[in-house]
Amino acid sequence: MKPSSFQYHDPRSKADVLSLLREKENSKILAGGQSLGPMLNFRFVMPDHLIDLNRVSGLDFISMTDQKIRIGAMTRQKTIERSEQLKQVCPVFAEGLQWVGHYATRNRGTIGGSLSHLDPAAELPGICLLYDATLRVESADGHRSVPVADWSVSFMTPNLEAEELLTEIEFAPWQLPHGYAFAEFSRRHGDFAIAGVGCLVALDKSGLISRIAMSVVGVSSTPSRLIKAEADLVGHQPDDKALAVVHQAIAELEASSDAQTSAQYRKRIASVLMSRALKQAVDRAVAAVQ
Ligand code: FAD
Repeated sequence: MKPSSFQYHDPRSKADVLSLLREKENSKILAGGQSLGPMLNFRFVMPDHLIDLNRVSGLDFISMTDQKIRIGAMTRQKTIERSEQLKQVCPVFAEGLQWVGHYATRNRGTIGGSLSHLDPAAELPGICLLYDATLRVESADGHRSVPVADWSVSFMTPNLEAEELLTEIEFAPWQLPHGYAFAEFSRRHGDFAIAGVGCLVALDKSGLISRIAMSVVGVSSTPSRLIKAEADLVGHQPDDKALAVVHQAIAELEASSDAQTSAQYRKRIASVLMSRALKQAVDRAVAAVQ
C-alpha cells in the first residue's frame, strides 16, 4: 500500500512547526518515521499535511546537570543509547534501548516519537515512568508540562492536542547510589515485547529498600508503574516476601490478550522478569555502595 496524498512541509524552526500545526488541519508530525511510515503506508493515518521535524534545529539534545536531565524530543534512540555521560548516571536507558527494534530503527527513531506513538510495549515510556519524567509540550499559544504519569490517556493515545508538539523530556537523576535493570521477553530480538520491566532500587546501610521504582510495559494498554507495591517495599528486605508483593501487583494489572498471547501469560512473564530485574538491580545497588 502507499500513503494517501498529503502536502509535505519541511520547516527549519520550532516556531514554523507550531504555526503549521495551528494553520493546517489534519496534520501529522514526522520524526524518525519508524512507526509513522508503516502507519501511513497501511493508511491507518491519512493526514492532509505532513510536518517533517528532521531539519528543525533545537529539538535534538541531551543536557545534563547533577539535578536535571533534559532530552530533546528529536534525539535519536541510538544517541541516548550510546551517550557515555547518560550511561554514567542513568544506565537503564542504554539497557532498555538495546531492546528497541534494530540498529537501523534506533538510528532514525526518536524518544519523542516513541513517547508520542505510545505503543503499549514501547520501552522508553516505561523508562521515563521510572524517573517520574515531565514532558514539555508546546503550541502556538504557549507551553505546558505533563507528568509522564498523566501522559498515557488510553491505548496509543498520548496527552497531546492536535496543535501541540512534544519538545523535550525532563527528569531528575537519582542522587543516591542505586541499582537498575531492564528485562524483556519478545518472540524474536527486535520484536515488540510480550512483556518488559524496568527497576531502580536504592538500599540503606542495613540493606533495606530505601527507594524503589518499578515499571511494566507490554502487559496493559498503557505502560504501568507499580506505585502501591513500591510504597509497601520501602523499609523492607528485598526478599521473597517483597517479591510476593510485586507479583501480586502485577497480577492486579489490567492486561489484554491478543493474537500473540494471553493476558495471563503476559502477566506471568512480567512477574518472572521483574523477579530477575529486582535481583539484578539489588546486586548492582550493593555493588554501587562498595
Ligand atoms: P515517527 O514514526 O516519526 O512518529 C510516531 C508518532 O509520533 C506519529 O504519530 C508522529 O506524528 C508522532 N510524533 C513524533 N514525534 C513527535 C513530537 N515531537 N511531537 C508530537 N508528536 C510526535 N519501538 C519500541 O519502543 N520497541 C520496539 O521493540 C520497537 N521495534 C521496532 C521494530 C521495527 C522493525 C520498527 C520499524 C520500529 C520499531 N519500534 C519499536 C518503533 C520505533 O521505536 C519508533 O522509533 C518509535 O515508535 C517512533 O519513533 P519515531 O521517531 O520513528 O516517530
